[in-house]
Formats: sequence, C-alpha cells, structure tokens
Amino acid sequence: MTILDGKKISNDIKNEITAEVKKMKERGEKVPHLAAVIVGNDGASLTYVGSKVRSCERVGFESTMVRMSNTTSEVELLDKIEELNENPEIDGFIIQLPLPPQIDTRKVLMAVHPDKDVDGFHPTNFGKMALDMSTFIPATPFGILELLDRYGVETKGKHTVVIGRSHIVGRPMSILMGRKGFPGNSTVTLTHSHTKNITQITSQADIIISALGVPKFLKAEMVKDDAVIIDVGITRVPDETKEKGYYITGDVDFENVSKKASYITPVPGGVGPMTIAMLLKNTLLARERHML
Ligand code: NAP
Repeated sequence: MTILDGKKISNDIKNEITAEVKKMKERGEKVPHLAAVIVGNDGASLTYVGSKVRSCERVGFESTMVRMSNTTSEVELLDKIEELNENPEIDGFIIQLPLPPQIDTRKVLMAVHPDKDVDGFHPTNFGKMALDMSTFIPATPFGILELLDRYGVETKGKHTVVIGRSHIVGRPMSILMGRKGFPGNSTVTLTHSHTKNITQITSQADIIISALGVPKFLKAEMVKDDAVIIDVGITRVPDETKEKGYYITGDVDFENVSKKASYITPVPGGVGPMTIAMLLKNTLLARERHML
C-alpha cells in the first residue's frame, strides 16, 4: 500500500511555483496577486483563508484578504467583486464559501470575471472544463488529478466511483476522470444520497473518490482489494481531549480500508494541502494569461 502524500507533493508544487516567481522577479515582471474575500466570522473559513494567504507569502505572491461583516448585503458584495474584477493589480480572487443566508451564492459566483475565477466555479470555466478546453480547473479536483499523475496511478479503463456530486468536488471530478487523456479515460459512476445499493457499486470500483463529508462512511467491506482510495472529506469531530476541542477526520475508515488499498490518501495530509497548492497554480496561470 502506498500513501498518496499530499503534503509532500504540495510542497514540491509550492517549490516549483516559488522558482517560477523568482524568475518573474528577475525579469522585472509583476508577481501574481491573489485576493480572498471572506464574509463573516466562520472559524473554519477563517482558517482556510488564513492558510491560503500564508501559502501566497511562502511562494512569493502578493495577497490581499478582504474581510466583510456577517451583515454584508448582496449588493455590497457584488460591488466589491466588481472592484476586484476591474483592479489590474489583482490576477485572481476567490470568494470563500459558505456565504451568509442573505446572499445568493450562485449570483455571486456568476459575478466573478471568468479570467480571474481561479476557483474555476464560473459557468464559463466549468463549461470549458467539460469541453476539454484550457481553463481553471476547480482546485480540489485539480489537486486529485495532480496526485494521481505524480504517483503514476493508472486511470485508463478503470472503473472510478465518485461519491458526492457537489459542484466543487464530486461533479467536476466525475467529468475529469471520464475525459480523454491522463488522468482520465476512466469509466465513471457518480453516486449521491439517492444512490441505492452503494456498497454493490463501490465494491466494483478500481478507484473511489469520496467527497460526501460523513466521517468513516467508506468501510473496508465496501472496497475491493487493491482499490485506489481518494478521501476528500474533512469533518471536524468535537473532542474535548484535543487542544482545539475537535479532531479532523475524512470519509474513509482509514485504519481498515488502508489494509486493502493499493494507494490511499490520508486525512489530514492528503487532498487538503493539494487544494491550496492548485489554487496557487491557477493564480500563476491567471498571471501568465494576463501578460499575454
Ligand atoms: P456537499 O456539497 O456537502 O455535498 C455532499 C454530497 O454527498 C452530495 O452530493 C450528497 O448527495 C452526497 N451524499 C451525502 N450523503 C450521502 C450518502 N449517504 N451516500 C452517498 N452520497 C451522499 O459536499 P462538498 O462540498 O463536496 O464536500 C464534501 C466533503 O469534502 C466535506 O467533508 C468537505 O469539508 C470536504 N472538502 C474537502 C476539500 C479539500 O480540500 N480536501 C475541499 C472541498 C470539500 P445529494 O447531492 O443527493 O445531496
């Protein structure tokens, strides 16, 4: 069994990006600049945005964190997005989700200019991805592709089962694994909460990508021998014995499933760090495109 070490690979990617940025600086070019907008005070969101900003600093990017209060109106947020769309200093920006209930998330994501949409959530970019055109691939699926690629995990002709159909992970993952090329050329089954007999489906899978957010959902008896297991889930489980008052767990019963798997991602240290690395990669791509 091989651990797909997202922490190590993401570090390699960050080092590669750092080298690119150094060259940009030497040529006297402007370095990539990522902005992150956060509305409200959600603890997990603040942690995620904080680590995105720190990663920017590490690779030599400029970064801007835009903090807005929990009572921000939809119009105020749309105005801020317009400002970022028009600011030539900013190469790409993200709107940290979830947003407070008074704001229509779909409307907000539609307002981000596709050329600055480094999360790859805008319908233009999602459509391009589905049509195999060059675009920003959403960071988490992009990170999973990169892990499979760097470990040389064969995907051609394999049966890939994706659990969860969210617009940010499961749905794009199912499209990407089925597209022509590597990683891809898989036969894909996309499952969700209405899927019947899910064990029957997962136990036929060569590759399982689990993104539902239910701790230890995927058990050893749901997995065949030598399957490749990608665990996207991140759930905070309350635990008073821990310093933070919780621990992080994935969707996979790692202890038992890892005994059967050929490759497996740990949580933490698997897909999570890859997501941030690929956001940086998309920002670098945005910078390069804006220079053309
Ligand atoms: P989401 O929007 O909450 O969607 C969950 C999906 O799982 C839905 O499609 C749902 O089906 C499906 N589902 C729920 N219960 C199910 C069941 N019993 N059997 C089969 N499918 C079921 O999910 P998300 O935003 O993609 O996040 C999923 C997990 O990944 C979360 O733990 C999240 O924190 C984590 N995540 C991690 C990263 C990372 O960087 N590692 C990035 C993003 C998300 P329906 O569509 O029918 O409701």
